[in-house]
Amino acid sequence: MKIKTADFVISNSKVDKCPDSKLPEYAFIGRSNVGKSSLINMLTGRKTLAKTSAKPGKTQLINHFLINNNWHLVDLPGYGYAKVSKSTKRTFQKFITAYFEKRKQLICAFVLIDSRHKPQKIDMEFMQWMGEHEIPFCIIFTKADKLKPKALEQNINNYQQEMLEYWAEMPEFFISSANTGMGQEEILDYIDNINES
Ligand code: GDP
Repeated sequence: MKIKTADFVISNSKVDKCPDSKLPEYAFIGRSNVGKSSLINMLTGRKTLAKTSAKPGKTQLINHFLINNNWHLVDLPGYGYAKVSKSTKRTFQKFITAYFEKRKQLICAFVLIDSRHKPQKIDMEFMQWMGEHEIPFCIIFTKADKLKPKALEQNINNYQQEMLEYWAEMPEFFISSANTGMGQEEILDYIDNINES
C-alpha cells in the first residue's frame, strides 16, 4: 500500500467522541518511549504526523488519522510510564480499555515492543488482557536498527519462547525500524490485505 494522504482528524480522551465512521481502524499502542510516534511517522512517510517527543507519557489522547480516505490509523497513549501520577495512570487505563471494549471499528491493534528488551511484565499483562477480551492484535518489534542482526534474531526468538508459555501460538509479528524504514511495507500490506478482503 502506498500512503497517498494522511490527515489528522481529531484527538480526544473519550471513546464515545471518536469519529462516527464506518471506516476500519488500526490502533498503535505500547509502552511510552517504545518508538510509537517514530513508527507512525515512518509508516505514513510524514515526519511530524505523530509527535515524537523526548518527554515520554505526553500523548494522553486517542488520536485519529485518516489514511488514503480509506481507513483510520489510531495513535493511543503510551502506557506504563513511571513518572505519571497514579491517578493519571488510572485515567490512561480507563480510557484505553474503554476504547478497546467499545470501538467496533477496530480491526487490529499493533502492540509495540522494544526489540532490545526482555519481555516486560506490563506488556505481557496488556497482551493477556487483549487476549481475554478477544481483541485482535499483532506485535511490532521496534528499533531493530539498534541491534546487530544476530542479537535481534536472538531477542525475538527469546520473546517468542516466553510468549509461547502463555499463548498457544505466537501472534502475527513484524520487525521495524523508524530509522531504516524496515517493516513499513509488511505492516502496510498487512493492513491493505485485511481492508481488501
Ligand atoms: P513514543 O514515546 O513511543 O512515541 O517514542 P518516540 O517515537 O518518541 O521515540 C522514543 C525515542 O526512541 C526517540 O529518541 C526516538 O528517536 C527513538 N527511536 C524511535 N524509533 C526508533 C528506531 O526505530 N531506531 C532508533 N535507533 N531509535 C528510535
